[in-house]
Formats: sequence, structure tokens, C-alpha cells
Amino acid sequence: MQTVRKVADLRRIIRRARQQGKRIGFVPTMGALHEGHLSLIRRARKETDLVVASIFVNPIQFNNGADLSSYPRPLARDARLAASAGCNVLFVPSSGEIYPPDFQTFVEVTQLTRRWEGKLRPGHFRGVTTVVAILFNRVQPDIAYFGQKDAQQARAVGQMIRDLGFNLRLKVLPTVREPGGLAMSSRNQRLSPDERRNAKILFESLQEGKRLIECGLRRETEILRRMRARILKIQGARVEYLAVVDSETLEPMGRVKRPAMLLLAVRIGKTRLIDCLEVR
Ligand code: AMP
Repeated sequence: MQTVRKVADLRRIIRRARQQGKRIGFVPTMGALHEGHLSLIRRARKETDLVVASIFVNPIQFNNGADLSSYPRPLARDARLAASAGCNVLFVPSSGEIYPPDFQTFVEVTQLTRRWEGKLRPGHFRGVTTVVAILFNRVQPDIAYFGQKDAQQARAVGQMIRDLGFNLRLKVLPTVREPGGLAMSSRNQRLSPDERRNAKILFESLQEGKRLIECGLRRETEILRRMRARILKIQGARVEYLAVVDSETLEPMGRVKRPAMLLLAVRIGKTRLIDCLEVR
């Protein structure tokens, strides 16, 4: 595996791969890699000829300076893990490499990002879609791999690909979970052992919501009431949002129809966790 820091070096590699008719798979990340990220790299390895992963802690998608500065950056470990999962090129640009000093162009998906993460983290998705658009142009992938865990992000990126005519396929892969059910996330490292034990209740509440819908319950308020009661058993938990939405539009439905998506964001102590579950 090659680690590349400069766009110019990446461009040379991409040009050569294209000349050789190789299919390029791309996995954008912010590093602190875990099994969730590695599942995307492994799938890219199976389906494409040149696997590019990026590690870039994108400053413009953070709306909290402390969250940005405390984001873990274990590069040597990440490089080892990425290589072992089958990554060929690890692109690790500096901030200046992505955003030159006179940078002033942004990409915004308007409707899909109004609620949930978008509402609680103003500017977050504008930062995400902007950096993903830049990376797509640099990497020119045939297939880009994203995780279902960040469901609203995956939907926003899919919309951007369609609206701006990016010539690539988006694949959204299932959430990888720890044995207890907690969705893997770089932020899980911030949980205390007690918090981590309790955090598995988030997945249990999603499963309960799913079960209720599958049993025919249609009243959104009732489904969410039962899920919330379960979550509030976690000591120090604060629900930021809890929703059952149309899986395409991510809009609430009132009376639930399938396919639906259950979404949640919960703070446990100082750690903010998000998760989701699709009900087909
Ligand atoms: P991040 O480094 O958090 O920006 O995530 C990079 C990519 O990995 C995104 O497409 C995420 O949705 C995906 N991802 C993060 N956690 C998981 C997980 N537990 N399972 C599957 N994909 C994940």
C-alpha cells in the first residue's frame, strides 16, 4: 500500500490506473479506523481493481472546535489496518491540500439535510458534501462505499451524485456492530466502561421499534414513546432526536409505512452517538 499526501501524486496514480483500464473503488474516512471502515475497504477490494481510501478529518464539517481537535488521529495504526483490509492507496491530505487559502466553493444538498443531524449540526452536511465532491473529483472512483450507519449522510451523498451528475456508483453497506449491538464508531473510545455497557440499549431500542412496526403498530408517537422509555433507562442519557421516517425522503410519516427508517442521536455523558435501523 502506498500512502500519498499530495493531490499531484494521487493524480499520477489515478491516471495510470485509468490507462490500464482498472476499476477504482473509493472509501472516504476520517481515520481512527475500525471494523466498520474495514468492511467498506474489504468490499471495495472484492469489487474493484484499485482501492483508494482517504483519511481526512474535514475541518468544515465540524461545528464544534473541541470535537475537531479531540478527534483521534492514530495514523500508523490506520495505515496498518487499511493495508491489511486490501487498500492500495491511502490518501492522507493536509487541510491546505484540500482547501487552498482562497477556497470559496461549497456543495449543499438542501432538502434531505434540513432535519436530524442537519438541524442539530448546522453546516455539517455542507462540509460533508463539499469534501466528498472534492474527493470524488480527485479520485475519480467507479464505485464509492459508504456506511449505512450515517444514513442521512449516505442519502445526501446519493442525492449529490444524482444532482451534479457524478459518474460513479454509490454503495451503502450495513452497519458493523460490536458483539452487544453498539454500532462501531470512532467516538465509542470516549465512552467509560459503564457507558459502553449501557450504550447497547440504543440498538435494543431500535430493534424494539422495528419489532413494533413489523407487528403492525402504525402510530409514530406510540412507537417512539416505547423506544424513548427504553433509552432513558441509560444513566446520563439525553435524547437529541428519535424518529421513524420514510427511508427515501427521511421525512416523518405520522402513520408509519414501510420501508421505514428508525433514527436516533443520543448523548451518553459527554459522548454523542447516532444509530439507525431500516424496517423493510
Ligand atoms: P467516518 O470515518 O466516521 O467519517 O466514516 C467513514 C465511513 O465509514 C462512512 O461512510 C461511515 O458511514 C462508515 N462507517 C462508520 N462507522 C461504520 C460502521 N459501524 N459500520 C459501517 N460503516 C461505518
